[in-house]
Parts: sequence; structure tokens; C-alpha cells
Amino acid sequence: MTTFSLDPGPDQIAVRDWLHGFAADVIRPAAAEWDEREETPWPIIQEAAKLGIYSLDFYAQQFFDPSGVGIPIAMEELFWGDAGIGLAITGTTLAAVAVLANGTDEQIGTWAPQMFGTPEDVKVAAFCSSEPDAGSDVSALRTRAVYDEAKDEWVLNGTKTWATNGGIAHVHVVVATVDPELGSRGQASFIVPPGTKGLSQGQKFKKHGIRASHTAEVVLDGVRVPGHCLLGGKEKLDARLARAREGARGGGKNAAMATFEASRPAVGAQAIGIARAAYEVALDYAKTRVQFGKPIIENQGVAFQLADMKTRIDAARLLVWRASWMAVNNKPFTSAEGSMSKLYAGETAKYVTAQAMQILGGNGFTREYPVERMHRDSAIYTVFEGTSEIQRLVIARAISGAPIR
Ligand SMILES: Cc1cc2nc3c(=O)[nH]c(=O)nc-3n(C[C@H](O)[C@H](O)[C@H](O)COP(=O)(O)OP(=O)(O)OC[C@H]3O[C@@H](n4cnc5c(N)ncnc54)[C@H](O)[C@@H]3O)c2cc1C
Repeated sequence: MTTFSLDPGPDQIAVRDWLHGFAADVIRPAAAEWDEREETPWPIIQEAAKLGIYSLDFYAQQFFDPSGVGIPIAMEELFWGDAGIGLAITGTTLAAVAVLANGTDEQIGTWAPQMFGTPEDVKVAAFCSSEPDAGSDVSALRTRAVYDEAKDEWVLNGTKTWATNGGIAHVHVVVATVDPELGSRGQASFIVPPGTKGLSQGQKFKKHGIRASHTAEVVLDGVRVPGHCLLGGKEKLDARLARAREGARGGGKNAAMATFEASRPAVGAQAIGIARAAYEVALDYAKTRVQFGKPIIENQGVAFQLADMKTRIDAARLLVWRASWMAVNNKPFTSAEGSMSKLYAGETAKYVTAQAMQILGGNGFTREYPVERMHRDSAIYTVFEGTSEIQRLVIARAISGAPIR
């Protein structure tokens, strides 16, 4: 186990500075354009792939960095550049984490590299859990997976919604119900390989923020995948379902929940990147904007806003680093520390970007300055990967043991 440290080592600092350069030189200057275009910024993903920033190797190195801060540092820098482009570059990792959390070594080795493609032929991947009638309530998923024993194939039918990279992904990871009577314990995750018949994109959503990231419905109509596409394998699933049917406790982790638990601190770090970016713009502006014959920062009313913004950003980062360190060192989240980090970081991003707009006055309200985009982008951080209310529910249950609804 690596001792907890708040002082990133030379390796982490080198990665941070490298990513910061890419965020400042490549992502930030392109942010407004791709926000307006509302399209996946393929040239920027390609550029990131050429440099090794968009690659399985890079994320695996950060993910397994024993300091625990590899992923939070990477996410914060990329999203400091721009959240929409940041998500276009990192959206694949949610699907990769699903395979890492639920797959066998062979499945990880087969599918994770295909999700990223190569620098010459970049690909993205999608994680499809949410459905029109099952957002916060993951146990209500209707997408069915039925096993066709004669062919050793799984048949998937249903409609997924809100999938980042849905329909444009090379590899889709789909969470489906094998036994609806068991609720979330009757679910499993499946790989849908590239070019599989029956999978199509439904509507692409026009969004309030993170508009460079593609979000769409995914329709599964008689999709047949080979037996080996069931993440974790059939033996493990059968044993898990048998335990759940007997009503045994600890019948195994729910597939979607295992993915979200592992990814919450990373999502919190993305929110911190947005908050820090907006704070820096506001601080510069407050020092240079003169009203009543002095820079506006010389008013306590403005300076105290900036003090609170900075304090909350740093507090959020501490929660994220702690949770990430705990996850890497296999410390159980006994008080839902992963949820705490995501809750606080998401709320902080919304608060800080709103304050930044206020400090910029009229300019904050225009697209000439980036803070209105940052504010729009921040709003998703209290919604996806579990809304703020759901994070509070998870924390409240963890600290009380009570069946809070
Ligand atoms: C841009 C974007 C990208 C996304 N990417 C993905 C993705 O890649 N893959 C994927 O699977 N999903 C993705 N999602 C889906 C996202 O995770 C869901 O939107 C989210 O979980 C909320 O579900 P919902 O929208 O159905 O809201 P609902 O669950 O309907 O919630 C509506 C409101 O009710 C509140 N609420 C619900 N239940 C309770 C409760 N018990 N107590 C208190 N309040 C409650 C919620 O907090 C919320 O405020 C994405 C969503 C968006 C918008």
C-alpha cells in the first residue's frame, strides 16, 4: 500500500504538466468552435492519440498508479482545457472501466484495446446503462438479455438512452436484465462488438452543455452476441444468480454499480477542472476590471467570492484524491467516499462557474468569454454518474445503515 501523500511525485507532476500543455495549446483554443458545432472533435481525439494521451496504455498507467492521483490529475487538466472536448477524449474510459470492473483477463485483453483503436484509426466506446424509464433507478432496466443455448449466443432487445458515444462507438458495453425478478441483481454487462447487426443509433441529443461530446439513444433490436461477450463469463453469472435467487446476502456486485463506483472520483476530478478554469478567468478579470477607480477585486464583496471559490475547489480536490487513493489501494468506501467526492465536486463546479459569471458582469453572459460555456458544462456534473440526490442517498445509507428512500 502506498502511503497517502498530498505531494504528487515527479511522475505525476510530469504527466500534469504534459497534459496541461495539451489542454492549453490544443483543447482550449478549439473549445468555442466545437461547442458551437455540437460534433465529436475527431481531429482533436486523433491529435491526442498521436501524442499517446488518447490510448489504453496511458489510462491504464494512470489507473494503476499506486499514488491514486494519476487519474484525477489527468482528468482535471484535460477538463480545465474544455469539458466537452475533455469528455470526447475520455468518454471511452467509462466503457473501459466497465470491462475492467466486470470482465475476465481475456475479455479485458481483447476488448479494451479495440475501444481506443490506433493513432492511425482512432475509435471510441460507449457504456449503455440508462434507459428512458431507468435513470437513477438502475434496477428498473428493461433491456433483456436472453441466452440461446443452441447457438451459445445472447440476444439483446431494448432501448438505451443518454449514451455518451452511443451509436458512433466501435465497441458498446450494454447492461441488460437476465432475470427481471431479481432487479439489479439479475443484471449483467455485455460487449456488443463492432458491426453487430441490430444495434443502431436513435436520436442524438442537442444539449445545454458539454456539446462537443456525443450523447444519443442506442436501439437494440434482436442483437445477437457470442457467449464470450458476457462480461465475467456465464459460470460466474449463473453462480451469482443462484445466490440471489436463494436470497443470499452479498450475491455479487451489480454490474452498472461496479462501473459507477470505480468512476465517481474521476468524474469529480473533471468537475474540478471546469471549476478551476472558471475561477482562474474570474480572478484575472477581477484584478484588471476597474470600476469606481479601482480593480473590482479590492471590494471585499468580490474578493470574498473568490476566496470561497478557491476554498471549495481545494476541498473538492482533497475529497477526490482521498477517494481515488482509497480505490487504488482497495480500501472499501465505508462512508461512500466515492459518492462524497463526486457530490461535492459537481456542486462546486456549478457554484464556482455561476460566481465566475457574476464576477465578469455583462461579459460573463456573453460567448466572448468562456465562463458561460463553463457554467453550461458544469450543470451535467450534478446529473450524470448519479445525480447529487442519488449521491446523498448512497452516503446517507452508508453512514446510517438505514433503508433510506
Ligand atoms: C450528457 C449526458 C451523458 C450521459 N452519459 C451516460 C452514459 O454514457 N451512459 C449511461 O448509461 N448513462 C449516461 N447518462 C445518463 C445519466 O446517468 C442519467 O441522466 C442520470 O443517472 C439521471 O437519470 P434520469 O435522467 O433518468 O433522471 P431521473 O432518475 O428521472 O431523476 C430526475 C430527478 O429526480 C431525482 N430523484 C430520482 N430518484 C430520487 C430519489 N430516490 N430521491 C431523491 N431524488 C430522486 C433525481 O436526483 C433528479 O433530480 C448521461 C446523461 C447525460 C445528460
